[in-house]
Amino acid sequence: MIINKKHSLLYLIIFALLFSFECKNNTQGKSNNDIKSGGDPKKTTYIDYSKDLSGKSNSDNPNIPDGLKKLKKAYPDFIDSVDNNNLYFKDGTKMIYDDGRKKSFEEMLDDPDLEDMMSQEYPMGKEYKIPEVNFDPGRIRYEPFFKKIYGSSASEVKKYLVTIKWMPKSTNATVTITSINGVDNQLKAVSDELDNIPQNQKKYVTKTAGTFYWRNIAGTNRLSAHSFGIAIDINTEYADYWLWDKNLTYKNRIPLEIVEIFERFGFIWGGKWYHYDTMHFEYRPELLVSPD
Ligand SMILES: [Zn+2]
Repeated sequence: MIINKKHSLLYLIIFALLFSFECKNNTQGKSNNDIKSGGDPKKTTYIDYSKDLSGKSNSDNPNIPDGLKKLKKAYPDFIDSVDNNNLYFKDGTKMIYDDGRKKSFEEMLDDPDLEDMMSQEYPMGKEYKIPEVNFDPGRIRYEPFFKKIYGSSASEVKKYLVTIKWMPKSTNATVTITSINGVDNQLKAVSDELDNIPQNQKKYVTKTAGTFYWRNIAGTNRLSAHSFGIAIDINTEYADYWLWDKNLTYKNRIPLEIVEIFERFGFIWGGKWYHYDTMHFEYRPELLVSPD
């Protein structure tokens, strides 16, 4: 067959089209590349919340509140679907999003719904303002949601706890954390990153102050996030806590580089709360994802 100039031009165009299609697929793959291999022999996977996770929620229905979209995106193992005001779990049960009641801040803490829980936007990253009065994104927790996912009693939560090495290059410590939702892999990813921070910052994190503990928050009837095996307290020696200061003046001594690492892997920080608790991190990916 004779390939004339016209043909070769045609082949060139076809080739160029094919090539550009390949490239497009590759970049798409990259931008959605939220699940990464942790690089250890067991091929740990974890999610990097600093990356674009678009396309993981129901963006087609404009009546779905952002909070519900975020929840669906953050808990794909448990949530099947959401609509205007309901969250449907994969086991067939559902939870109402907005109970329709107006509440004071104290009432929201004591008797919230999912909507109250999602009502304050957590500021991800190093830039954040000193929190205004009662700005506590993540401190409002709808307990039935966490009980449903992580266990409704100490013994149930304990069934899923695993022990992981904590910053193995820097210390011999271990920590216990839930394996539900892959929180253990997320914390391992945090630990690996913390193992490589500058030596002078390691003192904040090599020593930790507790993970799982089924208990009420002091002076309340609310379960602490530690009850569900999703929280970790870092070295109390450098911590500041609102209850330790009568004037409730905001303070923090924890380097924000450390905070950023935790956030990347789905943990929010109590240091961004008006009721600050700078040693406290908890796995709350719903507060770190975008709705779409
Ligand atoms: Zn804590």
